[in-house]
Amino acid sequence: MDRRFAPVSPKLPRLLHGGGYSPEAWPPEVWDEDMRLMKSAGVNVATIGAFGWAGLQPRPETFEFGPLDSVMDRLAQNGLHAGMVTPTAAHPAWLSHRYPEVLRTDADGRRRRHGGRGSFCPSSAAYRDACATVARALAERYGEHPALLFWQVGSESAGACYCARCAAAFRRWLQDLYGDLDALNRRWYTAFGGHAYTAWSQVEPPFENGRGGPPALRLDFARFANRSLLDCFLNEAAILREVTPGLPVTAGMSGSRLDLDPHAWAPHLDFASGDGRPAEDAGPVQTAFLHDLSYGLKRRPFLLTGQAPSRQNRQPLDALKRPDRLRLDSYQAIAHGADSVIYSRWRCDRGGVGQRHDAVVEHRGHENTRVFGEVATIGAELRKLDDRLPGAAVDARVALVFDWESWWALEEVGGLLRRGQYPEALLRHYRALWRRNVPAAVVGPDADLTAYAVVSAPMLCLVRNGWAERVEAFVHGGGRFVATCLSGRVDETHGAHEGGAPGPLRKVTGVWVEETDALREDRQNRIIMKQHFGPCRGEYGCRHLCDLLHAESATVLATYGREFYAGWPAVTENEFGQGCAYYIGSEPEDDFLLHFYRTLCADAGVLPVLDAPEGVEVRRRVQNDRSFLFVLNHNEDVSFVSLPDGQHVDMLSGAAAQGRVPLRGWDVRVFEETPSDGGGR
Ligand code: ZN
Repeated sequence: MDRRFAPVSPKLPRLLHGGGYSPEAWPPEVWDEDMRLMKSAGVNVATIGAFGWAGLQPRPETFEFGPLDSVMDRLAQNGLHAGMVTPTAAHPAWLSHRYPEVLRTDADGRRRRHGGRGSFCPSSAAYRDACATVARALAERYGEHPALLFWQVGSESAGACYCARCAAAFRRWLQDLYGDLDALNRRWYTAFGGHAYTAWSQVEPPFENGRGGPPALRLDFARFANRSLLDCFLNEAAILREVTPGLPVTAGMSGSRLDLDPHAWAPHLDFASGDGRPAEDAGPVQTAFLHDLSYGLKRRPFLLTGQAPSRQNRQPLDALKRPDRLRLDSYQAIAHGADSVIYSRWRCDRGGVGQRHDAVVEHRGHENTRVFGEVATIGAELRKLDDRLPGAAVDARVALVFDWESWWALEEVGGLLRRGQYPEALLRHYRALWRRNVPAAVVGPDADLTAYAVVSAPMLCLVRNGWAERVEAFVHGGGRFVATCLSGRVDETHGAHEGGAPGPLRKVTGVWVEETDALREDRQNRIIMKQHFGPCRGEYGCRHLCDLLHAESATVLATYGREFYAGWPAVTENEFGQGCAYYIGSEPEDDFLLHFYRTLCADAGVLPVLDAPEGVEVRRRVQNDRSFLFVLNHNEDVSFVSLPDGQHVDMLSGAAAQGRVPLRGWDVRVFEETPSDGGGR
C-alpha cells in the first residue's frame, strides 16, 4: 500500500506556509512590501479573495479585477502561490437591494437587514445565480494563472434560513424522502399533540415561536439546512471543476459547529481544510481533536487554513499567545496530518471588520515584531521538513465516532442533558486517549470500522438502520466497541427503538437500560469496580447521567455506589464472537476513562506512540519507507522523553539523537526515524 499521499497541488509539493490576504484593503505600494515580507517570513502561499465580493464586483454588471490581477501576478513573479477563496460568504449590498430575497430569514420569521457575513438565503435563486457568476468569472480569469494552487468555496458556512422559499424547498425535500404525507405523519409520530398534517402546505420549518413540533421535524430540518448549504457549495464547485478541471476544490469550514455536518460534505471535497480554532481556548486537547476530525474527513492530509497568529479571535477576552505557543500550535497541526500552516490573516486591516483580527503583519507594518519573528522562524523550519514530510499519513487504530445526526437528535432529548454536552462527552473520551499518546481518528458513523481495533461511540443517540449490524460484525471479528449512556435511543426519525435502549445495540452490548437518572451539576454518584479491569480498580466519581442497567448477557465490571440504584450495573463487558463490547452507563471522571482505555487498548494490542510525561504529546506520521516523530511539550517547564530504539535524526538541527532528550517549555522536536531492525515501519 502506498503510504504517501499526493500533494494538494503538484505545482507546489511542499508544506504550505502563508496567510489570508485581502489586497483590496491596501494600495499597490503595500502589495510590493508584502511580497518582500512574505519571502522574508518563508511564506509560499497567500489565500486571497475571502469576503472580497463587494470590491470584486462593485456593481451588478462590473467586475474590478485590478487588485486581484496585480497581486496574483506579483505572487507569481516572486515565486509565491495562491489559494483562491470565492467571496460568496459576504454578498454585496447591491445584491440585497436589488433582490431582497437573498437575505436570510431567522428562526423567529424576521428577515435580516443587509450586513453581516453568512446572511444569505441558501435557496434563493438570485443568490445562487450571483454566486455562479462570480465563481465562473474567477475561474475563467485565473484558472490558468501560474500562481493558483486550489479553490476554496466560501468561508465559514453556517446556519439555516426560515423564509417561505426555504420552507417550500424543505417540503419538496420531505416529499422526496417520505413520498406521501401519511408516511411522514407515521414516521414523525404526529398523531399526538396536534401535529398531524392533512396538507403539505401545513408543514413549516421549526420556528422559534412555534416550538413544540415533533422532534423529527427539527431533526429533518437540521439535515435539510445542512444540505442547503452543501448545495450552495456544489453550485460553485461544479463551475470551478468545469472551467478548471485540474484545480482541487475545498470548502471553508470552521471548527465543529452544530449546524454543519462535515462528514456529509467530505465526499464532495477534493481535500479537507480546517481552521483548527476551537470555539473556546480549551487547550491542546480540543485543538488536537479538531485536527483529527479534519484528517478523518478524507483520511488523508488536510490544510490548516486559519491558524491564529496570536489571539484566537473567538473569545470575548482574548489573551495573546505566549512566545513559542504559535510554533507549538503549528507543529501540533502538522503532527496530526496538516500539510500547511496558513494564518487567518497576513496583514491587519486598517478599518472594518478585519481591523480587530490579529495578523502576521500588524498596523505598524514592518517585520520587527514578536509575532512576525515567530512566523519567520516557523517558515525557516518548515523548509527543513519540506522534501520529506508532505503527504505522510497519520495512523490511528482507535476511532471515535462523532455523529452530527446524533448531536441533532440529542438536542431533542428533553430533561437529560444540556446543550453542547455531546461534544464535551466526546472530548472527555478523546482526552483519555490523548493523555497516553494513543492516536484516535475522529470519524463519522459511515467510516469503515474494520480499519480500527477499537471503536468508541459515546452517546451515539441515533442509530440508523444497519449500523448495529456493522458493529456486530466488527466486534465478532475481534474488535472492541464502547457505547455509553444515551447510546441507541432513537432511529432516523427520532422514534424510540422497540425493545428499549440501547435499541439495536442491545444484542452486541448485552444490556438493557430501564431508566436514566439526570444529576444536577452539584451532584455525583460513584462507580465501584467489582473486579479489576487493568488499572481500573476501587472507586471513581461519575456525574450528569446514570443509566439504570440490566446486564443481560454482559458481565458487570462496576456498579453504582449511591442512590436507590446502588448496586445496579454501571459498567459492563460483553464478549461477542472474537471481541468485546463495553457499556458505560454514566459520565465517569477522567481518571476512570484514562484507566479504562488503557486496558482496552492493551487488550487490543494498541500501544501509545511513546510513553511520555503528562502534557507531552507525541505523534507519528508515516511514509512508505520512513517515519517522523513529533514531540510537543505543552508544559511551561522543561520535560524529557526517552526516544524509542532505532536511529533518530533531529530534522530541525540535523543532529543525531538517542535516549533521553530534553524539551524546554513549549518546545517542539521533530525526528526522522529509522527503526533498529533497519527496515521501514
Ligand atoms: Zn431562505
